Amino acid sequence: MHTTTVGIIGGGPAGLLLARLLHNSGIDCVVLESRDRAYVEQRQRAGILEQATVDVLRSSGAGERLDREGIVHDGIELRFDRRGHRIDFPGLTGGRRVWIYAQTEVCKDLIALQLADGAPLLFEAQVHSVEGADTDRPVIRYTHEGREQTLTCDYVVGADGFHGVARSAIPESLKRTYERVYPYSWLGILADVPPSCDELIYAHSPRGFALHSMRSPTVSRLYLQVPNGTDPADWPDERIWDELDARFAIDGDWKLERGPITSKAVLPMRSFVTEPMRYGRVLLAGDAAHIVPPTGAKGLNLAAADVIVLARAFARLKETGSAELLDAYSDTCLRRVWRAEHFSYFMTTTLHTDPDQSPFDTRLQISQLDRVAASPHAAAELAENYAGLPIG
Ligand SMILES: Cc1cc2nc3c(=O)[nH]c(=O)nc-3n(C[C@H](O)[C@H](O)[C@H](O)COP(=O)(O)OP(=O)(O)OC[C@H]3O[C@@H](n4cnc5c(N)ncnc54)[C@H](O)[C@@H]3O)c2cc1C
Repeated sequence: MHTTTVGIIGGGPAGLLLARLLHNSGIDCVVLESRDRAYVEQRQRAGILEQATVDVLRSSGAGERLDREGIVHDGIELRFDRRGHRIDFPGLTGGRRVWIYAQTEVCKDLIALQLADGAPLLFEAQVHSVEGADTDRPVIRYTHEGREQTLTCDYVVGADGFHGVARSAIPESLKRTYERVYPYSWLGILADVPPSCDELIYAHSPRGFALHSMRSPTVSRLYLQVPNGTDPADWPDERIWDELDARFAIDGDWKLERGPITSKAVLPMRSFVTEPMRYGRVLLAGDAAHIVPPTGAKGLNLAAADVIVLARAFARLKETGSAELLDAYSDTCLRRVWRAEHFSYFMTTTLHTDPDQSPFDTRLQISQLDRVAASPHAAAELAENYAGLPIG
C-alpha cells in the first residue's frame, strides 16, 4: 500500500499543472493517468491560453518553450454580414491578451518537468474507484502493470475529465448537475498550410458557423459547424475547403489558403456543471466538474484556474494549518465557472445557426454582433471574458 498527501487522478492539463504547483510548494503528490505518455501528448484539443494561464505556466517553471514558440494574439475578428470587425484585447482590457499554444504542447512541457524532477507520474494507471471520501484517509484503487494497487491520501483530486470516476465519489443525493447539449457539432481539421489570417476569425454565416484558428506559422486549425452525428468520412477535403470558403466569404480582399488536411474529427458541444466541486476530502478540478462548448476557448483555461485556486489552498493548509481556502474551494471556483459557462453559451448561440432557427432569431444574432462591433462597452465585455478575468 502506498501513501501520499494529495492523490491526483488524471494527467491532463489540470492534473499535471496541479502536480507542478504542489511540487513547487513542497507538497507530496502522486499522479495516476490511465493512458500512455504518447497518447496524452498527442491528444488534439484546446489551443488558446488566457493571460492568467500563461502567467501560471511561467511562474511554475513551465513557460520556457511557450515563450519561444507561443504566438501572442492581441485580438480576434468577428465576421458577419460579409464584414469583419476586430476586437482589440489589450486596448479594451487594460493590457490582457491571449497566446496560441496547443494543449498538446502544454502537456508535453509539464510531463517533461514532472519526469525530470517532480512527483511520481504513473502512466497506464487506471483508477477504478475512490473510497472513504468522507474519512480522513481516502483511498484510490487502481490497476498498474497488471496489479491491483491502492493509494491512501490526505486528499484526492479528481482531475480525470468528463468521463472520469472521481465525480461518482460525491453521493448522488448531494450532487446537482446542470447540462445543455447543443443541436450541432464541430468538424475540426488540422492542415499543413500557413494561416490565412494573423488573428482568429469567428464567422457567423447563413450556412452556419466557421472558425479559423492556428497551431503555428505553418499549421492551420479550422472548424465548421456540422449537424450532430456527422461522419467525417462524408466530408472529403475539397468539400471542407469549399464550405470554409463560403462561410468566410467577405466583401473585399481576402483569400483562404488551402493545403493538405492531416486530421479530421467531429466534436460534440456540451455545457455541464456539477455542484459542489468538493465532497469530504475529494475535490474535483477541470472537466471532471464542468464542460463548456469550445467557442469561448475556456475549457483548458478553466481547468488551470481551478488548480491555481486549489494549489493556493493546499499551500495555505501546509503553511498555517488553516483549511479555510480549501473549504471555500468549491464556491470560489463555481463563481468563475458559471461566468465562463455564460460566456461560452453566449458565443456559441450568437454565432451558430440552430437547426430550428427562424429569420427573427438570425436578425437578433446580427443585431447582437452589430452592437459588439459598434460599442466599446459591448466589445470590452466580450474582450474581458475572452482574454480571461483575473483569478481572485
Ligand atoms: C475533443 C475535444 C476537443 C476540445 N477542443 C477544445 C478547444 O478547441 N478549445 C478549448 O478551450 N477546449 C477544448 N476542449 C476542452 C479542453 O481540452 C478541456 O477543457 C481540457 O482538456 C480539460 O483538462 P482536464 O485536465 O480537466 O481534463 P482532461 O484533459 O480530459 O484530462 C483528464 C485526464 O484524466 C485521465 N483519466 C480519465 N479517467 C481516468 C481514470 N479512471 N484513471 C486515471 N486517469 C483517468 C484521462 O486519460 C485524461 O488524461 C476540447 C475537449 C475535447 C474532449
